[in-house]
Amino acid sequence: MRDTDLYRHLLGLESPWTVAKVDLSVSTQRVDVAVEHPKGQKWPCPVCGDLLPVYDHSEERVWRHLDSCQFQTFLHARPPRVQCPKDGVHQVRLPWAEPKARFTLLFERLAIDVMQVTHIQAARQILRISWDVAWHILSRAVQRGLQRKEPRLIEHLGVDEKSIARGQRYFTLVCDLDLGTVEHIGDGRDKRSFETYLESLTDEQLAAITAIAMDMHEAYFQAALAKVPDAERKIVYDLYHITQHMTGAVDQVRRTEHKVLAEEGDNRLARTKYMRLYGQERVPRKYWASFYLLRKSDLRTAKAWALKENLRRLWRYKRLSAASSHWKSWYFWATHCRLDPVVKVAKMLKARLPQVFNYFIHRVTNALSEGINSKVEVIKNAARGFRNAERFKIMIWFRLGGLDLYPVTHGKS
Ligand SMILES: [Zn+2]
Repeated sequence: MRDTDLYRHLLGLESPWTVAKVDLSVSTQRVDVAVEHPKGQKWPCPVCGDLLPVYDHSEERVWRHLDSCQFQTFLHARPPRVQCPKDGVHQVRLPWAEPKARFTLLFERLAIDVMQVTHIQAARQILRISWDVAWHILSRAVQRGLQRKEPRLIEHLGVDEKSIARGQRYFTLVCDLDLGTVEHIGDGRDKRSFETYLESLTDEQLAAITAIAMDMHEAYFQAALAKVPDAERKIVYDLYHITQHMTGAVDQVRRTEHKVLAEEGDNRLARTKYMRLYGQERVPRKYWASFYLLRKSDLRTAKAWALKENLRRLWRYKRLSAASSHWKSWYFWATHCRLDPVVKVAKMLKARLPQVFNYFIHRVTNALSEGINSKVEVIKNAARGFRNAERFKIMIWFRLGGLDLYPVTHGKS
C-alpha cells in the first residue's frame, strides 16, 4: 500500500480522492495511476455548491501528469456526476484538472513555464508532447489570460506595424511602454487597425494617455488624432522609429550604388548589407576594417550613413534649443545631399516636426519600443516566418501579453 500513498502525495491528490492502483511499465516507460473516491461520498454541485450524492459516473478519462523519474505518468479516473434539483446533471469539479483538459493542472503549469522560456520545438522534446498538444496548451493559456485581463490606465503607448512571413501580411501592435507588454494586436496596418483599440478604451483611459510613440505611418497618426484628446501634443516620433526610416534610406542608396559600381567591376559594396543594421557604436569587430574604409570613401552610401548617424545625435540633447539648432543644420545638409531616399525622409520629418520634438517633452523610452520589437522578431524567427497568422498572434500574447496564464487550482479558489 505504500506506493499508493507515495503517488497520492506525488499527484497532490486531495481528500476524498485516493490512489487505487499503480501500474508501472518499464518497457514502455510509463506509470498509470488509477484514482478513486469512497462509496457514499457527497459532492458539491459545480453550479450552486449544494452537496449531493453521486448520480452516476462518466466514462474513464486519462490525464497526463508530471513525469515520475523519466516515466510518463498518467492519471485515470471515472469522474462522478451529480443531479442537482436546480441545475440538472453535471460532472463534479476535479481538483487536479480543468474541465475538459487532457492534462493535470501541474502538468499544464510546467508546460506553460517551459514554453515561456524556450521555443516550441524544444519544449516539445522536454515535455514529450506533440505539436498539436503544445499548441492546445498554449492557446488555452492565452484564452485564460485574455479573459482575466482587466482594463487599466496606460500612460505611455507604443504603436508599431509588424509583418509576418516576409511582409505578406501586417499586424498593428499596441504596447504599454512602461510595462513592456503587448496590449492589442490589430489586423492590418491601416487607420482602423489602431482605431479599434482606441475605441475599446473608456474616456478615462483615453485621457490617461500622455504619450504615444509611433512609427511615422500616416494611418496611425490619423487614428490617434481622431480618438485621443490633444493627440498632436502626445504623438512622439522617437529615435527608434525615425532611425528605422533612415536605415531604410541608407539601404536604398547602397543597393542603387552597388548596382552601378558592380557593372563597372567595382565590388566595394558587395556584402555590406550589414551597414544598414549598425549604428556607429555597435559595429561588430569583424567589420571594423571594411567599415572604416567605407566611411573614408567618397561613396554615396558613406554619405547616407553619415547623415543617419548625425541625425541620431539629435536625441542626445537635453535642451530643446540645442536640439532645434542641430535639426536645422542636419535638415540643410540632408536636403542638399542629392540622395533621394534621404531627402524623402528629411521632408517627412519636417512635415511632422512638432511630433519629432515632442520627444523632448515626454522622453518616452526608445529602449522599450526596441525591446518589444526585438522580442517579436525572436518569436517570428523561431517559427521561421509563421505561415499561420493566428499562431503568431497567440505566441505574441503568450510571451509578451503580461497575462495570467496558469490554470486555477480549484481546491484553493
Ligand atoms: Zn446546483
